[in-house]
This record gives sequence, C-alpha cells and structure tokens, in this order.
Amino acid sequence: MTMLEADEINTYYDKSHVLYNVSLEIPAEGLVTLIGRNGAGKTTTLRSIMGIQPPRSGTVTMNGEDITDASPHETSLRGISIIPEGRRIFADLTVRENLRLGHLGHDIEDIDGAMVDIFEYFPRLEERQQQRAGTMSGGEQQMLTIARGLLSDPDLLLVDEPTEGLMPSLVERLRDILGRINDDGVAMLLVEQNAELALDISDYGYIIDEGRIRESGPSEELRADEEIKDRYLAV
Ligand code: ATP
Repeated sequence: MTMLEADEINTYYDKSHVLYNVSLEIPAEGLVTLIGRNGAGKTTTLRSIMGIQPPRSGTVTMNGEDITDASPHETSLRGISIIPEGRRIFADLTVRENLRLGHLGHDIEDIDGAMVDIFEYFPRLEERQQQRAGTMSGGEQQMLTIARGLLSDPDLLLVDEPTEGLMPSLVERLRDILGRINDDGVAMLLVEQNAELALDISDYGYIIDEGRIRESGPSEELRADEEIKDRYLAV
C-alpha cells in the first residue's frame, strides 16, 4: 500500500525552478532511494515533502491525505521525520539533551522508554548520554542525528546523505542500522550520492537529474544497468 505519494510536484526557490513534475511513491514499510548527482534536486525533494519548501504545484499525500501545504510541524505530526544532511546537532548540549529535542511538539509520554528503544540501534549513544555532543566523532554525531529523528516515532524517515564523509567501516555500520530500522517497520526515503550503497539496501529507486525523474525501477534492475549508471550517476 502506498504511504507517501508525490504527484507531479514543481518546486521553486524564488524565481528559480528546481523540481519539474517530480512524482514518486513510497509504500508502507518500504525502503526507496532517490539518487543523482550534486545539485540534481534530491534535498529539495525531501524539503518539499516535509513542507520546508512546499511545491508550487502538484500534490503530496500521506496515507491518502493531502499534505502539500502542511507545515513541517504538521507533517511531523503525521508521522514524517527528516534527517537533514550534515549532522545538525547542538554541540553544547549533551547527547541526551539532543535526543530530548527530537520529541519536542510530540505527545510522547514515555520519553525515557522511547530512548531505551532507540539505544538498541545505537549502543554507543547510550554509553555517551552525558557527553557533550560537539566532542563526539563525526560518525557518532551522524548516529545522533538519526537517533533524534526517530524520537518522534515516525512512520516515514526522509534521510539526506547519511553516509557523506564517513569512513568505510562506519558506512557499513550505518547501512546495517538503517536496514534494521526499516525491518522494524519504518518506511524510508534515502537520498544518496553513494548509488551503490543506496541501490544495495533499497527495494526501489528513482534517479533524478536536473530536477526531473529520469528513471525508476526495482533497485536490482537499476543496479545492473550500466548505461543508466554512466549517464546519471558517474562522477
Ligand atoms: P547535493 O547532493 O549537492 O545536496 P541535491 O541533489 O540535494 O544536491 P538540491 O540541494 O536539491 O540538490 O539543489 C537543487 C538545485 O536547487 C541546485 O541548483 C541548487 O543550487 C538549488 N538550490 C538549493 N537550495 C537553494 C536555495 N535555498 N536557494 C536557491 N537555490 C537553491
């Protein structure tokens, strides 16, 4: 069943037209990836779904309800959570304080219980709850950003380039964690420049180029298609 659907969305930054009739679907509990080069429009697609940069035309629906013009707070209450690019943590706050911010605005009674669940994915964060977030390694900060996004108990995670700048062993660890989160029933739209990884863990993929979806299909098929890789994904 389709959980989220973007239908022919067009998004602008002021006069600059960035997304052209972008359509995509994410099934409940699915793991879908959106890949493409720098500047192709990946982050803008996530921002349009979340309501940070709403589309000027087209529609976004979540569980059949129109959220095209919903604010980020409203989309968050409907079960969508965005993990932005670039580890946006509060450096002077502790890990635990950062995590608590993830449930702001949500009616979650048992915040400590929610944290215990999330620490199952991120044992390092549990050990470091009282550490100032700014003193952690880049990889740990990335884990914290994802953990915080889970605190609102989302049905759909929009994840923007989580592996950027991480060393290979951490990329592997992160990929396992994202896979486990999805196995536990959270749908995901994963934006990546690392196409190999993204197509490896996802069920279905979309390729975006110059603000347009150029190809889509089961990830296995996209991964096997050298021509597509050469045309849209080569660095
Ligand atoms: P990257 O991998 O570099 O993050 P991306 O595929 O996520 O790229 P976007 O960040 O969505 O691409 O950018 C798409 C286009 O929109 C680019 O041409 C970019 O310059 C432009 N753009 C992005 N953010 C803004 C903004 N705040 N104001 C104006 N133009 C923007």
